[in-house]
Amino acid sequence: PIREPLLEVNNIEVIYNHVILVLKGVSLSVPKGGITTLLGGNGAGKTTTLKAISNLLQSERGAVTKGSIKYKGETVQGRDPAELVRRGVIQVMEGRHCFQHLTVEENLMTGAYTRRDGKGAVAADLEMVYDYFPRLRERRKSQAGYTSGGEQQMCAIGRALMSRPEMILLDEPSMGLAPQLVEQIFEIVKSVNEAEGLSFLLAEQNTNVALRFAHTGYILESGRVVMEGLAADLRENPDVKEFYLGMS
Ligand code: ATP
Repeated sequence: PIREPLLEVNNIEVIYNHVILVLKGVSLSVPKGGITTLLGGNGAGKTTTLKAISNLLQSERGAVTKGSIKYKGETVQGRDPAELVRRGVIQVMEGRHCFQHLTVEENLMTGAYTRRDGKGAVAADLEMVYDYFPRLRERRKSQAGYTSGGEQQMCAIGRALMSRPEMILLDEPSMGLAPQLVEQIFEIVKSVNEAEGLSFLLAEQNTNVALRFAHTGYILESGRVVMEGLAADLRENPDVKEFYLGMS
């Protein structure tokens, strides 16, 4: 079924330091309630695309110099990143940015800081996060810096959920994790998507796992979308098989 787009990126160009053209006209759309994956090798421009959407390029001396980004039909370019969070879009950065000196639970609670809907609702969502990630419940009193890579990735996703988003931009959740854990994390993403109707834009180098869990996908090469389609079709595409799935 064709669903209405929640996020529309239309032909964006991103330049770093006024000279380095990194995105050369990227267009993509994330349907409401869908999981969309953005694939590509190292340096293809996945992180840059996510940061362009959540307006986090400024601190990197990067800027969107062309094109448009719309969330629910409204332009979000040039807005304060915190405003986007209030509107329901949150980014989980690559490399699991947990506060190392806070406990797992304190980290999760920092995700709720922008909320105005009261303690009861926040407490209920903390329980929801622990239901999705039982491992985080076990580790809730542990200092995040002493938890494993997988637990920190879970903590970062859990913290994003605590802001009650409508859409999560997830940057390489599989990075540095053992295959079994990657599988677990994607299973949880899938159940959150199905149960809460949350939309995901998921940047990944792990094409195999991403195309199994996503509904639609885009492949980036050197700042351009070179292929796009339903994940099931991309999985069967001979070029994707040869160059991204390691089969031919
Ligand atoms: P990775 O898997 O390494 O995160 P990626 O697909 O996410 O790769 P980006 O991080 O978006 O790729 O990088 C795209 C290109 O932009 C790379 O060539 C990178 O060197 C360059 N780049 C990224 N950040 C900056 C920056 N702050 N200043 C200049 N160039 C940058």
